[in-house]
Amino acid sequence: MSRIFNFAAGPATLPLESLQEASEKLVDYEKSGMSLIEMSHRGKIYDGVHTETIALAREILSIPDSHHILLLQGGATLQFGMIPMAFLQEGVSADYIVTGSWSKKACDDGNAVGTVNIPWNGKDENYTRIPAQEELKLDKEAAYVHICSNETIGGIQWPYFPDTGEVPLIADMSSDIMSRPLPWEKLDMVYAGAQKNLAPSGMGFVVISDRLAQNARKDIPAYLRYDLHIDKNSLYNTPPSFVVWMTGLTLKWIKSIGGLQEIEQRRDEKAQMLYRMIECSGGYYRNPVDKNSRSPMNIVWRLPSEELEKKFIEEANRQGLSGLKGHRSVGGCRASIYNAMPVEGVQTLVNFMKQFMAQNG
Ligand SMILES: *Cc1c(COP(=O)(O)O)cnc(C)c1O
Repeated sequence: MSRIFNFAAGPATLPLESLQEASEKLVDYEKSGMSLIEMSHRGKIYDGVHTETIALAREILSIPDSHHILLLQGGATLQFGMIPMAFLQEGVSADYIVTGSWSKKACDDGNAVGTVNIPWNGKDENYTRIPAQEELKLDKEAAYVHICSNETIGGIQWPYFPDTGEVPLIADMSSDIMSRPLPWEKLDMVYAGAQKNLAPSGMGFVVISDRLAQNARKDIPAYLRYDLHIDKNSLYNTPPSFVVWMTGLTLKWIKSIGGLQEIEQRRDEKAQMLYRMIECSGGYYRNPVDKNSRSPMNIVWRLPSEELEKKFIEEANRQGLSGLKGHRSVGGCRASIYNAMPVEGVQTLVNFMKQFMAQNG
């Protein structure tokens, strides 16, 4: 077996331990004579996996009893629509802080359903920074405030969670969920597509406070109803059983290495290695992002020309460093260094960057 280092933004690299355990058990799940993904989701065995995954998420993220955990289909994108469908009623508006492509998409869906207000928009600055609290013109009457905690394409992360007073704060955390402990007293809802930092694609991981869920509309189609999913413990319809299982395996791996404290330490070590490399390159590699808004998960950089960027990506691929092409909407290079990317992977990338610069400087 030869695994390469995969820096893709999503679907993304997963812990080898989780992949191995899944492959060992895929055909015959714990001597049941069938695969877990062939079983009824109403049976005892699947129920055990489902319950354990939710319990592990609660334990690792220290999610208080005031918040529910939901495992839904439709990824993060369904949440873009589900949130306004559930909470954006006639006569009120919602605040969407726009810091990049993903928060813009969420805002567009809000706008398709109801009235939105944009308290701050980073578009004129090419989405290179997160605003300070003082810059936000928040509406005290808003149904909710929506942010994207980590913009996967632009490579910026909120270094704080904004104070929204009594208005519920909702965060799309698709690319930085499970990378640090969270201040639940400030967050009424967090959601993430599974395929970045948790599992394969096909699931939306949602944490929602009971106080917010109480306000969810009930006169809408069943799948869009948070109250129904809460009531049925995410088993209203057939759950994405394979993704739930893989999420559980990844969470077990996180717990086994020391939980979010260890994850956060590795995250900082990896991100610092890359940002230091960029800074020490004398302008050969350029990160366009404001220093205080730098993402430790998705690190973006440019080279002196597009030709060199193309050559860089091709040569990196040949050396077993894949997925370094920036998002097609912005170009350049990007390394997504989620939890499962080992420190050696980043070290190998940094060595390659030094070598490439020496040969093409
Ligand atoms: C990838 C991503 C999404 C979209 O996720 P899907 O699961 O594909 O719907 C939304 N928000 C952010 C921040 C992302 O990185």
